Amino acid sequence: MLPVTTALEALRRARRIAVFTGAGMSAESGIPTFRDRMTGLWAQTDPMEVATPQAFRADPQWVWDWHVHVAAAVTLARPNPGHRAIAALATGGRRVDVITQNIDGLHQAAGSGGVVELHGNLFRLKPFIDEEAAFAAAEAPVICGVCDGYAAWDDCDPYATREDFAELRLAPGPVPRCPGCGALLRPDVVWFNEMLDPAVLDAAMAAVDACDVLLCIGSSLEVEPAASLPWRALRRGVPVLEINPQPTALSAQALSLRGRAAEILPELLASIAGR
Ligand code: NAD
Ligand code: ZN
Repeated sequence: MLPVTTALEALRRARRIAVFTGAGMSAESGIPTFRDRMTGLWAQTDPMEVATPQAFRADPQWVWDWHVHVAAAVTLARPNPGHRAIAALATGGRRVDVITQNIDGLHQAAGSGGVVELHGNLFRLKPFIDEEAAFAAAEAPVICGVCDGYAAWDDCDPYATREDFAELRLAPGPVPRCPGCGALLRPDVVWFNEMLDPAVLDAAMAAVDACDVLLCIGSSLEVEPAASLPWRALRRGVPVLEINPQPTALSAQALSLRGRAAEILPELLASIAGR
């Protein structure tokens, strides 16, 4: 394990810090992690069953309603002292690149800018693109100029604009459709069995490749390809600090600070600011 003094000194001197976060980052904001899925928010329905393109194709309303249910809890959540400490780290000419697996927007709410959202954002919508149907169709799909999805040409408004589309939100009720082409809309998150947006993954890798230190907070490191990012930094010889109450596969090679993000991060910030 990396010695504490070496890790803190590296953090204090760093001009560019990459902060990689998982569900544990928001645990103290009241959003349970997936590992806690036998309780609360995730108890009734297994996310791995409902948050998939296959489930949406079979029953869009069920999948939409589940996201509305999750969003109700996430809307009530506020950034915790850990989110705020990360935002405060970006001072004195130090650049902080936040790369998160979370879809809750809490880093931005705490004041972090330019957050790389690897798994998207629950509160943004995008068209559902049914790759299987498009593959089976005789003709190539037409791309809608309003939502950029495969146009369904169902109940269209010829005057609909991109602005009309951008105003639509995740809310109780029927699954909304693109006003321009009638395609079904869905939350802009990465579901199980889906690829990450390559441009977003590229931005995350660029931030990891440019950092002097990487902080890995509240991630079980079991979801790829996001989980490989801390190892990418280690391979370059960059110090990695991990904050997690539980050990992970990374712990042996990082400075492992065993505890909760909302408690450790403000202490860490104070310890590097005060020296
Ligand atoms: P995970 O649920 O697999 O693991 C959570 C990790 O956080 C565990 O290692 C756990 O020990 C740790 N942890 C728990 N409480 C903590 C605390 N107070 N402080 C620090 N660490 C704590 O989460 P994951 O690795 O992020 O991957 C699961 C996937 O689930 C991600 O892709 C993410 O998109 C999604 N998810 C997101 C949210 C959210 O947006 N808040 C919530 C649940 C799941
Ligand atoms: Zn459209």
